Amino acid sequence: MYNEFINIKTVFIDVDDTLLDFGRCASVSMRAAAAAAEITLPEDFEALFHRVNNSLWKRVEGGSLTVPELYKIRWNLIFGEAGIDFDGVAFENVFLKELAGSAEHVIGAEELLEHLKSRNYVLYSASNAPQLQQEKRLAKAGFLNYFKEIFTSESVGAQKPSREFFEKAMALGGVADKDSCVMIGDSFEADISGAAAFGIKTVWVDRKGVSAEHPGVATRVVKELGEIKGLL
Ligand SMILES: [Mg+2]
Repeated sequence: MYNEFINIKTVFIDVDDTLLDFGRCASVSMRAAAAAAEITLPEDFEALFHRVNNSLWKRVEGGSLTVPELYKIRWNLIFGEAGIDFDGVAFENVFLKELAGSAEHVIGAEELLEHLKSRNYVLYSASNAPQLQQEKRLAKAGFLNYFKEIFTSESVGAQKPSREFFEKAMALGGVADKDSCVMIGDSFEADISGAAAFGIKTVWVDRKGVSAEHPGVATRVVKELGEIKGLL
C-alpha cells in the first residue's frame, strides 16, 4: 500500500486535546480556582465554560481576538452568563496558574510519543498557548523529553492556523523541506486547515467525528491516537 508519510522526518504535534486532555485539565483547574475564590459553581459550569471558551478560541484562530484579550474577557463573560458577581480577570489569573500545573494525559499519548521516538522522528509541539505554561504542563505529564523544542504561538510569534506559524516553526526548527513534515492535531481550524493550506501533510485526530464536514483537507483522519502508529 502507498504510504504518503514515507518521507516524513519531522512531526509537529498540537498539545491540548491531542496529547493533554484539556477538558479534564480545565475541570480540575476551575474547581481549584473557585475554591480559592470561595464561590460556588453552578452544576452546568463546565458546559458553560467550554461553550464560551470554544467560541473565543475560534475568534483567536480567525484573527478577531488576541490571546491577552481572551484572558481579559473569558471569565467575565462566563460569570455574566452564570449570574456570578466576581472579578473575571482575578479569577482568570488563578485559573491560568492552576492550568499551568495540570497535565491530564489523552489516552494513548505516551505510547504514541514513545513510538515516534523509537522511529527517530524529530518532534516539536505546536500550540496556541503561553510558552511557560505548556513547558510546565508537558514536563509534569512526563512528555518534555520527547520534544526537540516546545513551540507555542508565544515563542514562534504567530498563531495557528496562520501560514506564518508553520513557516516560522519550520525555520526555528531548521527544517527546510515541507514534504518531510507532518502536523498532528485535533482542531480542524487551528491544526489541519492551516497546515494543509501551508502545504504540509496532516493527521487529524477527529474525536468529535466531524471530518465528513471537511472532506479532502486532512491527509489522514484518525479517531484515536493509537491509529497513528500504523501511519508513522
Ligand atoms: Mg488542540
